[in-house]
Amino acid sequence: MKVYLDNAATTSLDPAVLDAMLPYLKDKYGNPSSIHAYGRESRSAIEKARRTIADHFSVSPGEIFFTSGGTEANNMALHSGIRSLDIKNVISSKLEHHAVSHTLNYLEAAGNIKVHWVNLKDNGVIDMDHMEHLLGSNEQVMVSLMYANNEIANLLPVQKAGSLCENHNAVFHSDVVQAIGHYPIDFQELKLNMASCSAHKFHGPKSTGFLYVQGDCLLQPFIHGGPQERNMRGGTENVYGIVGLAKALDLAVENMDKDRAHIEGLKSYMMTELQTAIEGVLFNGESGGDSLYTILNLSLPITEKREMLLFNLDIKGIAVSGGSACSSGVSEDSHVLMAIGTDMERPSVRISFSKYNTKTDIDYLVKTLVEVL
Ligand code: PLP
Repeated sequence: MKVYLDNAATTSLDPAVLDAMLPYLKDKYGNPSSIHAYGRESRSAIEKARRTIADHFSVSPGEIFFTSGGTEANNMALHSGIRSLDIKNVISSKLEHHAVSHTLNYLEAAGNIKVHWVNLKDNGVIDMDHMEHLLGSNEQVMVSLMYANNEIANLLPVQKAGSLCENHNAVFHSDVVQAIGHYPIDFQELKLNMASCSAHKFHGPKSTGFLYVQGDCLLQPFIHGGPQERNMRGGTENVYGIVGLAKALDLAVENMDKDRAHIEGLKSYMMTELQTAIEGVLFNGESGGDSLYTILNLSLPITEKREMLLFNLDIKGIAVSGGSACSSGVSEDSHVLMAIGTDMERPSVRISFSKYNTKTDIDYLVKTLVEVL
């Protein structure tokens, strides 16, 4: 049996998304910058996708900039945002994806900014009082805090963070990569100035994403070259990827309530089954409504089988993740689990669900986990 429960790392392409993309991989191959019919066909597909995406977030198409995914969108927001908006201080947290934290470390080492790491409370909850204090004691500030954590699933009170930023005149950026497609998101209502997205986390293609940049934030180019993406990002656009991104988003939004009910059911079933089958299992991060419903992070009892755990599950056909998915294969303790004080002697496993998972998958994982342990 094969079971894929690593959907926070990436998801399978929805067949309907593939169908939408195929014409742009075959016959509709014009360069969108060309003025002939082939080019115009590709251009129109890109602009249609941009409109679709903008509508889903209640923003205008001119505020959507396509990128090669979440990492690039985060880099664009931080590099171009900090440079163009004259930012001197950035407030962020130790729980961010490396696409944010490593970029901030780099910019700080280069002398461009000072980074203020907001305090964390129990379970990795962002200390909003400390955030407010940092906002009040610094000027020319950008806040970069992720909507949903990709390892422990914690959700940021985004609305509250947005209001605090607005009150203190700070620019608010959020990595919304893990939340998009799973929650209705209105960028304006959340008072976001910038938001990073990636298509492959909700059954879209890899290496495609976008950065939302609110109209008032005029950013300088991130990738110099041609005039693509209104001079922000030179380079011929990933037409089929962009078409796939818009289709995947359409499907995710259309089926959100149904898929959410299904996945929430799987997560709570998994928690109950694990607690019954494995004595001493712990769940990392927040739970219930403060937790992204697609991710469950657990710590198992200490065992000498720790090193071989994921390998043994893999042999049995089960794909899950140990630390951050983006760094799986690299045996480095997760910076997120360490930041929230998880006992690193215990093996930790991240299970992440999609609409395609079933209770049979969960049963097989729990049974195999018990066997392997
Ligand atoms: N941000 C978060 C929260 C992620 O989970 C990931 C991928 O795991 C990324 C950014 C990077 O996105 P991409 O793989 O599209 O570069």
